[in-house]
Amino acid sequence: MEEYTAQRRVCIVGAGLVGALASVYFAQRGWHVDVFDTRPDPRVSQDSAHNQQRSINLAISTRGITALKQVGLGLAEEVLQAAIPMHGRMIHGLTGHQSSQAYGVFGQCINSFERKRLNISLLDAAESFSNVTMHFGYTLRACDLDQGAAKFEVRATGQEYVVTVDLIVGADGAYSTCRRQLMRRTRMDYSQTYISHDYCELTIPARQNEHGEQEYAMDPNHLHIWPRHTFMMIALPNKDRTFTCTLFMPKEQFEAIATPESLLAFYQTHFPDAIALIGRDQLTHGFFANPRGALMSVKCTPYHYQDKMVILGDAAHCMVPFYGQGMNCGFEDIQVLFRILDELQVTTTVPPPGQAKAVDSQWHSQMQRALDCYTRTRHRDAVAICDLAMYNYIEMRSSVVSWQYLFRKKLEDG
Ligand code: FAD
Repeated sequence: MEEYTAQRRVCIVGAGLVGALASVYFAQRGWHVDVFDTRPDPRVSQDSAHNQQRSINLAISTRGITALKQVGLGLAEEVLQAAIPMHGRMIHGLTGHQSSQAYGVFGQCINSFERKRLNISLLDAAESFSNVTMHFGYTLRACDLDQGAAKFEVRATGQEYVVTVDLIVGADGAYSTCRRQLMRRTRMDYSQTYISHDYCELTIPARQNEHGEQEYAMDPNHLHIWPRHTFMMIALPNKDRTFTCTLFMPKEQFEAIATPESLLAFYQTHFPDAIALIGRDQLTHGFFANPRGALMSVKCTPYHYQDKMVILGDAAHCMVPFYGQGMNCGFEDIQVLFRILDELQVTTTVPPPGQAKAVDSQWHSQMQRALDCYTRTRHRDAVAICDLAMYNYIEMRSSVVSWQYLFRKKLEDG
């Protein structure tokens, strides 16, 4: 007699960083995985990084690397090999003076990595499993949570496409549709806070040395910060020897800079060393052509509905980027969820027809227990990281230089 092998089905909404890694975890446990994303496949699409409206590179830290190590497949090693370690902050003063602040005395570091490349590596890893199917160009419109049904609009045709699964995983980011569906069926506590600052990305190009080789214009093993108390600029290194700078500033201040002349005057006053590093033309082009993003923090609870849906990553806890932990925390969500599923021995095999009812209801209550436990344990930690991220905004733009600032002011005041 043939062995019965039907598997539990999961639908993951969002093939971003968190959705892609989650699909690897589910695939490894034997789930039948369908991943949907409204975007085209980043591996074939020509979308420039700036069109994606997100940071070009990001910092991956121990929290995220640990979650990658759990899946094996050489993912963590691949990332660490291609990443650029940043062992501390480099503070840029008004005079162009730079001072290094190490992250630790034992060489601790965070790692700069290209966002798109990380997403592609995770998608490739997911698709190496025969039980994973990717669907790009599918936008989630609604869910019938009690039925486990997710309704998508196929972008190419405008037609509706419905899947019915055992579990829906919402990894659809800060403006999550899954979270909105969850709100309709649970007593969700929810808060969303926009900060007054927007961000804009600029590029410091590689420079040529006397041998005609491309080299970094600054030390690549630091996260560079130009803290100016009410605003700041940071820069992270890229593999191609460029740096991606991010200017964080109140929206009104962005709007007040309306001409190339006022932009150059602003940089001359606040970031004089950065003009030569970025280049006048690149600076004005980048500032006026690149998109500006808003920044918000989202907290909510619960993260699940019965045994039917759970939200992960930014869908559950979007945070301001100043602690560099949004993606890292999303990766840790997956690790925590699977620790609970494994501890409670939630199986992935569907019982054969005939034995279905009793075994099935046991599975559903076990899954609900796991998701209850996930919300209970994860919410406190996720809120703490959101709060630390908000606090670190003040730390990065101001506290890192407070003593220097006060010292200089004292000198100036006589
Ligand atoms: P996303 O990356 O937003 O992915 C969500 C996916 O869902 C997208 O692909 C989207 O197309 C898809 N989607 C959305 N709606 C639907 C729908 N209705 N139907 C189908 N698909 C849908 N984090 C760090 O850890 N380190 C850093 O250094 C760092 N730097 C940052 C810098 C900036 C400027 C910003 C803005 C963020 C930074 N972050 C950083 C945070 C990090 O970008 C996010 O936490 C991370 O991208 C969250 O991943 P996610 O998969 O949950 O969501």
